[in-house]
Amino acid sequence: MFLKEGEGMGAGLCLRCQNHHFTRPMCPPWGLIHIRLPKVAPAMGAENTGAWPHQVFSVPPEVAENMGSAVDVCVSGSGAVAMSLALALSAEGWSVSWAKAPAPTVPLPPDVRTYALNARAIALLTRLRVWPALQAFATPVHDMVIRGDQGGALSFSAWQQHVTELAWIVDAAALECLLGEALRYAPRVEVVPPLSTPHPQHEAQLLAVCEGKHASTRALLGVEFARQDYGHSGVAARLKATQPHHGVARQWFRSPDILALLPFNQPDPHASYGLVWSVPTARAQQLQSLAAADFERELNDALVKSDPAMRDVVGHLELTSGVSAWPLALAQAQRWTGPGWALLGDAAHQVHPLAGQGLNLGLADVDTLVDVLREAGAQEPWRSLGDERTLSRYARQRALPTQAMSGLTDGLLRLFSDERAPFKDVRNAGMGLVQRLGPLKQWLIGRALDA
Ligand SMILES: Cc1cc2nc3c(=O)[nH]c(=O)nc-3n(C[C@H](O)[C@H](O)[C@H](O)COP(=O)(O)OP(=O)(O)OC[C@H]3O[C@@H](n4cnc5c(N)ncnc54)[C@H](O)[C@@H]3O)c2cc1C
Repeated sequence: MFLKEGEGMGAGLCLRCQNHHFTRPMCPPWGLIHIRLPKVAPAMGAENTGAWPHQVFSVPPEVAENMGSAVDVCVSGSGAVAMSLALALSAEGWSVSWAKAPAPTVPLPPDVRTYALNARAIALLTRLRVWPALQAFATPVHDMVIRGDQGGALSFSAWQQHVTELAWIVDAAALECLLGEALRYAPRVEVVPPLSTPHPQHEAQLLAVCEGKHASTRALLGVEFARQDYGHSGVAARLKATQPHHGVARQWFRSPDILALLPFNQPDPHASYGLVWSVPTARAQQLQSLAAADFERELNDALVKSDPAMRDVVGHLELTSGVSAWPLALAQAQRWTGPGWALLGDAAHQVHPLAGQGLNLGLADVDTLVDVLREAGAQEPWRSLGDERTLSRYARQRALPTQAMSGLTDGLLRLFSDERAPFKDVRNAGMGLVQRLGPLKQWLIGRALDA
């Protein structure tokens, strides 16, 4: 709602959206501004009559456009990116309609994935007040050891990077559950049906599409999604080992598959792992069809074959969950923003999980978009939240880090999928080179920590 400047530092109840608003000291010359603050006490001198006095003045055309929208932002999607965005917008004081998919009629198997989250993602989850509860389902990574298929090796350690941990391994299901819980109590967030079922609250200044890689709204917006299938699937499961993990994440480039063991704290706080095993899709289907004992035998054999020392270092691995698989692809939306809309998370980009960066990129999108909207609100408050120029700042800021991460994961994958001898030599020698080249290693870890 729009309040007159100087109205006792103007506080008032908007009769349209029923939210309380506050004027800011740096009002534009015409003295009107759209304010977003949590419920506030009546301003000094204002009568507390329930409907606080406020006045609408003539507004510039750009502002008038905003007044047609029932809510500030409509967030469409049901995953971690959509929920984080809805929470972050609500914390900034914007009203949000959250268009989420209806609960499945048949219960889905639990998500057995563990996500490696970087420092920036953890900082966002901390600001969203989700991190304290999530920490019970999270394990810090102090060291990371990556091995090639012919003696190449690369290692990173938190103390060398002057950080307390390289990443946190978190339970994917717990993350989504806690974000959903936080949203139940978030002010100014209303759950509305998905966009396919028309609803007045879908009408917003900005539509944020966070519907994942199969986003149907992206297609309706006419945005192409260039997708390149890897022909591989990411097999995920939870494991328990006979030896403690000591906070070490391990990854083997075995050509054609990539095997990763991520230290985790459930069920055994010291000796559990999340498995991410990228294998050709036919092999993934075969692995999924195996009985638990057979799967464990295949996995333990693969591990010891890649690295005989693991027999003592990791010990024997046992399944503690079902086995799931996801098809892997590299994909990028041809446009991320347009008038009144923005794409975030996997709806905008999809990367191979070998570097554990997909969700980190999505959460960095959330962080950046909210920063851009906040700055625009302070500097150009007459602009709509869906202003294309404002949104293109978000797209520009995210383009480079996303392309760098897509290129890095794709390049590594291609390098390690070639069976020819010269490639094997080059990639293993390359790992040794990166290991010795401090600045390059520092750059790689910097990208991973920040997405
Ligand atoms: C095996 C594996 C391991 C991974 N490991 C990591 C890791 O370690 N670290 C990391 O950062 N990333 C990792 N990722 C990537 C990560 O899973 C994704 O990047 C992340 O889940 C993307 O989140 P999102 O919310 O954008 O999309 P999604 O998680 O796909 O969520 C989108 C949601 O929106 C729903 N939806 C779709 N259409 C609509 C609609 N019209 N209306 C409402 N809702 C809709 C979908 O059903 C879905 O629930 C991994 C991925 C895989 C496959």
